[in-house]
Amino acid sequence: MLPLKEKDKPLVQKLLSAGCCARCVLRFCCVGVQAAYRQTYQDTVKELQAFISDAENGKSKDSAAPEPAEENNKSHDAAENDKSHDAAVPEPTEDPPSKRMKLDHGATGDQSEADAAAEPVGPQAESRVCVVCLGVLQEFCDRTHATKIAEAVKAENYEFDTMVLSVSLPAQLCVREHSCWLHVKKEVREKSMALDKDDVILVKEAFKWTVQGLVAKELGGVAVVTRSVFEVGVEFTHPETDADCHFLAGACPDCFKPTKNKQSVFTRMAVVKALEKISDNKFLKHYPCPPTRPASSCSTQDAQCLHLSVFVAGRYNKFCRSLPQTPWVIDGERRMESSVEELIAAPILSAFRADGFNFSSSGREDVDVRTLGNGRPFAMELLNPHRSRLNRAEMRQLQETINKSSDKIRVRDLQIVSREAMGRMKEGEEEKTKSYTALIWTQKAIQREDITFIDDIKDLTVDQKTPLRVLHRRALAVRQRVIHSMNTRFLDPHHFYLGLKTQAGTYIKEFVHGDFGRTKPNLCELLKTDTDILELDVESVDVDWPPAIPE
Ligand code: ZN
Repeated sequence: MLPLKEKDKPLVQKLLSAGCCARCVLRFCCVGVQAAYRQTYQDTVKELQAFISDAENGKSKDSAAPEPAEENNKSHDAAENDKSHDAAVPEPTEDPPSKRMKLDHGATGDQSEADAAAEPVGPQAESRVCVVCLGVLQEFCDRTHATKIAEAVKAENYEFDTMVLSVSLPAQLCVREHSCWLHVKKEVREKSMALDKDDVILVKEAFKWTVQGLVAKELGGVAVVTRSVFEVGVEFTHPETDADCHFLAGACPDCFKPTKNKQSVFTRMAVVKALEKISDNKFLKHYPCPPTRPASSCSTQDAQCLHLSVFVAGRYNKFCRSLPQTPWVIDGERRMESSVEELIAAPILSAFRADGFNFSSSGREDVDVRTLGNGRPFAMELLNPHRSRLNRAEMRQLQETINKSSDKIRVRDLQIVSREAMGRMKEGEEEKTKSYTALIWTQKAIQREDITFIDDIKDLTVDQKTPLRVLHRRALAVRQRVIHSMNTRFLDPHHFYLGLKTQAGTYIKEFVHGDFGRTKPNLCELLKTDTDILELDVESVDVDWPPAIPE
């Protein structure tokens, strides 16, 4: 039985006459009992009709079981938790207490005959599209639609054990809801009853109450919860009534500012804002009350699934002097066939079945620079991963796959990390030290003892103007960097190895050749001859993240 009371009858009749569907009637009667929405639409229609004809026959028995005291009516239930955000409907273990209208005790159904005449409330009413929900609560709340949603989810083959159902409704539903509310409010006021618009159950709540249990069942009992990393979105559109919102732009122009990435200015947010501002009189002047009957129902696309990003981190070595860190494209043309990030990402993307990725690292090396030692920390955000949990053994296996796929790079410490942990990589990056080995050429012939003085130089501060080679993408500035220590290894009269321990961000090449005097002091000045750098290796990046994983 529907949890309606005798005194709800005039309202029920008025709503049916206005062209509301059976479930919208329950919503406007503030019925918060979820089970009432879950029974079949036909049963609800029949019960409402029986309820009304009781009234017409002058009987006065409540359709509901004995009800709680009026004081309990304000106890708020699940519907209250989700006024602003789609994806946050709790799945209660039992139905919340019914919310009822705060009706005047003296009210009876004695005015019902006058209202019932407006529109037929017979069997034909069932087949008509609801003027408020545009069919959402009529045609899309059954097992067939739930199965359709579940099939769309299954087809994507995600790995998940909880999900959140989010519902997107056309913005004009708010306009129609407002119109219907004004229509009902008018009558309610005549009868000196109190009814707050906030007490009306939202369309998306009612939709979720009816459908999410069915979807969960179809998906083998997955928990539909308020917060989950996995979201299933159902979107309804109704082009026939899109123009419903347009009058609001004239009435509240400041609510509708064009934004770059939205197709229409009539977003749900903007419409809600405008409806809060507009006076009842102004609204009624521009919009029919109750709303007009649409010819067709809403339509809906396949449910859209989205899994929150997963983050993977590790360290990489680069053994090749012709491999850029990221794809190297000049004037739309690709310069190198591969890159560090692509070599690492390909096996990871396929293991997590992700749609895409964002790659970041602790600094970066030039295309001709190797990264040796423990490697360079990196992290990847995997977008919309269809698989999100790999255990330690599987991560080790994935690391093996990456390392076998190419001899140009190698990965270690590969692990899943949190979004927050990723920030650790960039934290204090500037203060970290990096170690390098450079192969140096000197124009003047040198002897072993000519270069040993370099080993004694400590904490040398250098001023570096933005190097010419990066000036096209970085602002001109002078940066101070510290070279903590250096060591030399003589090779022959024109070559030696120079080891450097420097503050992160030091331009090593420029320190060696001087960059036409843009870096001072530089190695040419120190050795009083032209010098150049032939090879450069990064020996270590002293960032203690991500944590090492024992082999
Ligand atoms: Zn409806």
